[in-house]
Order: sequence, then C-alpha cells, then structure tokens
Amino acid sequence: MSPSAHPIERLEPTQRTLRRAQYEAFEFELVAQGVLVRNASHANPEAHEYLVTIENGLPHSCRCPADEHHQGACKHRVAVAIRTSVLEAACNAQRIRELQTSGVQAAANPLAP
Ligand SMILES: [Zn+2]
Repeated sequence: MSPSAHPIERLEPTQRTLRRAQYEAFEFELVAQGVLVRNASHANPEAHEYLVTIENGLPHSCRCPADEHHQGACKHRVAVAIRTSVLEAACNAQRIRELQTSGVQAAANPLAP
C-alpha cells in the first residue's frame, strides 16, 4: 500500500459502505476537532451528526456506533474521503491549527496583509 494511494483505498471500505457514502445526502461542517458529518437523508439530521477526526490526511475515526463496532471505515469517514475538497479543507485547517499552536504567528506569513 503506497502512501500516494487515494485516501479511499487506504480506508478499505466495504462495497456497501462505499455505496451509502456516495448516495446519502451528507452535509459537512469544519470544526476544530475535524469534520462534522450530518446525514440529511434522515428526517432529523441533527440526530445523525457525527464527528470525524482527521489524522495524517485521512479520516481517522468517527464517533458513530458503526465505526466502533464494525470492521473497516464507516460511511461517514468514507463520505469525507471521497469528497476530496472536504478532506483537503479539513487537512488545511488542521495544519493551520498546528502552526498556530507551535507558536508561528500569522504575522510571519509574507502573504498576510
Ligand atoms: Zn461514522
């Protein structure tokens, strides 16, 4: 398994999980801890909202029961992984937070106004 493999290959989801991650109406929200994934396919999406944490550029864990109790990545982690722009945004946000906590100030950025 090469590190350049697409994130989805590294998560090794089942075909069923992959299909659900594609067709269900997920909504994504960047939060400090990672990505909040809301399943808008449900009548009450708020009750189907789970935090997916990002580590080393991959959706690393999810707070949903399926991710805890089943083998392989859950549909929330896969849903983030197959939406490259969401995953990239989450990775960038994480990198920025790491820079901030390591003491590099925004003022040191030559691109800052
Ligand atoms: Zn999940």
